[in-house]
Amino acid sequence: MAVAGIVWTALTGSAAARATLQSWRYDPQRQSLAFRTDQPTQPQVQVVGGQRVVIDLPDTHWPHPQTQQDFGSTQVRIAQYRPDVTRLVVAVPEPLGVAQVRLQPQGSQGWTVAWHPQAPVQASTILQSAQWQSPGILLRLSGPAVVGRVIRSKDRQWLYVDLPNTAVSSHFQNQTRPYNLRVESALNGRVRLSLEVKTAEPDWQLRTTPQGLVLLPAAPAPAPRPQRPAPASAPRSRWTVVIDPGHGGTDPGAIGRGGLQEKEIVMDISRRVARLLEAEGIRAVLSRTQDVDLDLEPRVALAERVNATLFVSIHANALHLNRPDVNGIETYYYHNGQWLARSIHKNLLATTNAPDRGVRQARFYVLRRTSMRSTLVEIGYVTGAQDAARLATGSYRQQVAQGIAQGILRYLDNLAKSK
Ligand SMILES: [Zn+2]
Repeated sequence: MAVAGIVWTALTGSAAARATLQSWRYDPQRQSLAFRTDQPTQPQVQVVGGQRVVIDLPDTHWPHPQTQQDFGSTQVRIAQYRPDVTRLVVAVPEPLGVAQVRLQPQGSQGWTVAWHPQAPVQASTILQSAQWQSPGILLRLSGPAVVGRVIRSKDRQWLYVDLPNTAVSSHFQNQTRPYNLRVESALNGRVRLSLEVKTAEPDWQLRTTPQGLVLLPAAPAPAPRPQRPAPASAPRSRWTVVIDPGHGGTDPGAIGRGGLQEKEIVMDISRRVARLLEAEGIRAVLSRTQDVDLDLEPRVALAERVNATLFVSIHANALHLNRPDVNGIETYYYHNGQWLARSIHKNLLATTNAPDRGVRQARFYVLRRTSMRSTLVEIGYVTGAQDAARLATGSYRQQVAQGIAQGILRYLDNLAKSK
């Protein structure tokens, strides 16, 4: 990378200081790579595309031809990347299989690099897609807004866009042709986008639009049009809806038939709801985007912080496993969410045809503590024979998501009319 090259220049001393990579060992159990040089060196580690760990050894010589070794579906490659840099690359099979990397010294000339699929911190914003829409590139994000930074490489051939507290969606779509855009997840919960540009092109800038962040050549140019026809009610973009998938991490929530876990079902459905809302121009913010522990208090705090219009908590219900006969949907409100609850409940019943267990009032923490209109939906019983079988399928989860999203949209449209 051009930026790192500046560092190397500073580090590279006389030819006499050159180290040699002497040995390396891949440990599939620990998911780590150990290596040793005959002189001290300072490895530089980066994660590329969530799928490759790239370790550069500045001022280090690799005395063999380019080496490639397969360990099952994981591959280790070693090469003299540049005259003064030896590069080790570990390529893992799954996309986003690498989220966290730890570099540990072993004595003065040995190192271990270990990687883990789980992100160290929960990035609250998710990069969903990057799309070329003349004259710029639209970056669609879900979650709290982030302030990005644009950096031009010294040779002017690359633009780097850094997005703090951001992770890349596993469904990330990269459609930036004619431009070549690469996505790298860095170690500290930051996403870096690298865009190949022509040396003569002007600098680019980031602009915030209702559709997302837009990366534009700095020359005055109109913001790109959203790819969809403007929704019938354009002002929808001013609404922010927090979708709160219940439980997570060590708290699985209800566990039902076939080991069906509430935390997993509600995460999937929440993602689907967020996608549906965003397709309608509404800003959807997920309280958690990964399988992590999250107390109730930060869920409420997030909703307050992003100044949410609505707060919708999504849960699944459970009884004893010997009650397979109990199935259906319940929707809860506490103080001001009654009409929101009714709108979601009604639309959910319409899309799912599930048994109606009513709209009810309850003193749930997330309903009591949120200042905006809030509701909690119990999308079905994981212990119910009918609900469990249906909730295990993607097609039914989509029906549930559509019901919730429709209920929210109808409610917001009515709210807009009454204002
Ligand atoms: Zn729950």
